[in-house]
Amino acid sequence: MTSSSDEQISIQARSGSHQFVAPARVNLIGEHTDYTGGLVMPMAIPFTTVAQLRSATDGRYSFSSGLFSAGRSMATDDRSPRVGDWSDYPIGVLREFQQRGLQIPPFALHLTGNVPLGAGLSSSASVEVVTAIALLSHAQATLPIEVIAKLCQSAENNYVGSPCGIMDQFAVTAAKRDHALLLNTRDLTFELLPMNNNSLSNCRIVVANSGVRHSIAGGDYGLRRREVEVGQTKLLQRFPELRDLGDGTLEQLSACADELSPESMRRCRHIISENQRVRNARQAMLDGDPARLGSIMTAAHASERDDFECSIDEIDFLVDAAVSLRGCYGARLTGGGFGGCTVNLVNAADVDEFTSAMKSAYRSKFSLELETYVCEAVDGALARNAAQHTNSIRETN
Ligand code: ADP
Ligand code: MG
Repeated sequence: MTSSSDEQISIQARSGSHQFVAPARVNLIGEHTDYTGGLVMPMAIPFTTVAQLRSATDGRYSFSSGLFSAGRSMATDDRSPRVGDWSDYPIGVLREFQQRGLQIPPFALHLTGNVPLGAGLSSSASVEVVTAIALLSHAQATLPIEVIAKLCQSAENNYVGSPCGIMDQFAVTAAKRDHALLLNTRDLTFELLPMNNNSLSNCRIVVANSGVRHSIAGGDYGLRRREVEVGQTKLLQRFPELRDLGDGTLEQLSACADELSPESMRRCRHIISENQRVRNARQAMLDGDPARLGSIMTAAHASERDDFECSIDEIDFLVDAAVSLRGCYGARLTGGGFGGCTVNLVNAADVDEFTSAMKSAYRSKFSLELETYVCEAVDGALARNAAQHTNSIRETN
């Protein structure tokens, strides 16, 4: 495991206008484990949020987005609460900096991008991280990766009001090209796992977007989180030697059955078994074994569907359809659930046939158009902007 504090974001501020980018992410496995100190395995994917930041001469902070008509402008000492639109995400990041005493000169921040919104590919973390990097640059400040990731998570938890874990912000910041990032969310150590070991080099990651929007701020995600936390509290009371739920075993969980609701039991069973699946998936990746990796992914979906109950009919249909097709090693719901995307491990030679069969099956069943994205693992924001800093941040005025 690598310690994330080894690497520092260090970007010099310059006058004029500067562009910063952050990717999206897809989670290969390890779902809902990132708020119980568990393991996750995301990779960054080639969708991009772009932030254009320029110094402002009007003494204010301004926020605009190419995707939304309403912008916001505020005095630098404004501390007003969230308004419930897209601007809460970048302003939440600004607030986190302000609470830490970072002095940020007036600016105008403009966001654009092509990350599908509310699809479970983390457009929100992409916005937060690109904002954080842009503001750090503007303030000529430097922070380690894990501080940036935590700060962006806090922005989403505290200002936006979405109870997300740390996975998205960390992956969007720290991911590396051609690798999955195995993150231990307890201590934020991580390991980079090559995506092209042995037979894995003949595979592609295909993301299929159900078109059903999810919302972490909606009630279901928060309810699941509470059900898990109740279970974790009981487990740790009964077994004080455990550090968190991810440390527990299914036998230990069973010993708490009399004190927990059936729902809490099932949610915790998902978390404990999911952590073990991530460890098994890591070994399958190191062995370059797509058949084993795929079957672990499909088993993870069954657990999300039956124990965590965060899937929906459209997603279950997509997973069942995928695993029946030639060349698909495994498929599962990715992201927080209740909508969003599936992630599929597919033999490269079968990808075209796979995507067209998936589209026509989805159209026949739901009269909906399925978008599919064949994704390579790309660099996170740290690597992307460090490269830009040396050779391609452009002065535009
Ligand atoms: P996800 O992270 O899965 O895409 P979320 O509901 O967590 O879904 O975040 C989506 C929200 O993030 C959008 O509704 C919007 O408010 C904000 N957002 C994402 N990308 C942009 C962008 N380029 N410009 C402005 N807001 C954005
Ligand atoms: Mg999000």
